Amino acid sequence: MKILKAFISFTTAAAMLNSPFLADTAISSLALTDSDIAIGESNTVRGDLNGDGKLDIFDLPIMRHSQPAPQTHTSTTITNILTGQWKTEGSIGIRDFTFNNGTGTFIMEDTGFQQDFTYTVQGVSFIMNIPYTLPLTAVMTWTDSAHFSLKWNDGTLEHFTLVSDNSANRQQNTTTQHSISNSQYSSPTGQHTIQNINGVTYIDGILVANKTYSLPATYNPNGLLPEVDAAFMEMARAAWNDGISLWICSGFRSYEYQKTLYNGYVSMYGKDATDTFSARPGHSEHQTGMAMDIIEASSAFEGTPAAIWLAENCYKYGFIIRYPKGKENITGYKYEPWHIRYLGKDTALAVYNSGLTLEEYLGIDSVYNY
Ligand SMILES: [Zn+2]
Repeated sequence: MKILKAFISFTTAAAMLNSPFLADTAISSLALTDSDIAIGESNTVRGDLNGDGKLDIFDLPIMRHSQPAPQTHTSTTITNILTGQWKTEGSIGIRDFTFNNGTGTFIMEDTGFQQDFTYTVQGVSFIMNIPYTLPLTAVMTWTDSAHFSLKWNDGTLEHFTLVSDNSANRQQNTTTQHSISNSQYSSPTGQHTIQNINGVTYIDGILVANKTYSLPATYNPNGLLPEVDAAFMEMARAAWNDGISLWICSGFRSYEYQKTLYNGYVSMYGKDATDTFSARPGHSEHQTGMAMDIIEASSAFEGTPAAIWLAENCYKYGFIIRYPKGKENITGYKYEPWHIRYLGKDTALAVYNSGLTLEEYLGIDSVYNY
């Protein structure tokens, strides 16, 4: 509580200094009291609090709880979907991995050292067993079906890139021809690849969360993915140079957090109305760790200099405006000029140039089927 009070007095002091962080709306959305702490949608707040040209970052859940919430991964389903040849980069150098349904080998490129191991994947936990040592564990985060990272329990991070999928027996993966729902668009091949990895859907290798495709409750990267965070910082610096201050008013939201948020809205507005602006748990793009709301998740953001800058420039940093105007029936959401989704620079540029929504670009729909 002391931390919260300090935060409130700090924001009040910063407000008097007229910092660019402190739009009145950002303050008023933080309706904090000692007995009932409500943070609205916000998980993370960034802004230039002291006017030194650098972004300052506040993670509100951490401030709320003052100590990190315990890990709540409860999945016990063991899936060995990881197969094929993968190349890694990390602080221990380059390693060439072969995964084959629970058994694997890696070779260190520098030394030629080779090691056999067994492994399991449980939700987002990757567990590797090397003979005569304790199991090594890591948090596994998929960016798309050809890229994931492992954050090992010693804190090191290792990025994996698919080299070849030649073992060709990825369990749970399905490749199906998908009909194109929008006649304006036809991809070069006229078909899209749909994969399901641990309950997560990838269309043409792009992770999708919308009203049709949900994420399992166990999918929890625990924050924005590092590359998404870095892309936002790069964009925020460019915006700053153009006289625009950007900050994230809501970044990653866990399944549990979205459940609380959604049920809260349903009790106030009813289910039908809530479905037009808030995702059901498992269907929020915020759970991917690749989506964020910029400055203010309300219609007041529309037409502001920051909103215009974002629409014109975000693709250069790998983001798209995910729910454009006039596409409500395709995306399933009303126009949200503040909500951006990370796709990487190449894909974001391609989607931007196409003028299509992500649903149209990937030939999918966004409709609840329950
Ligand atoms: Zn959003």
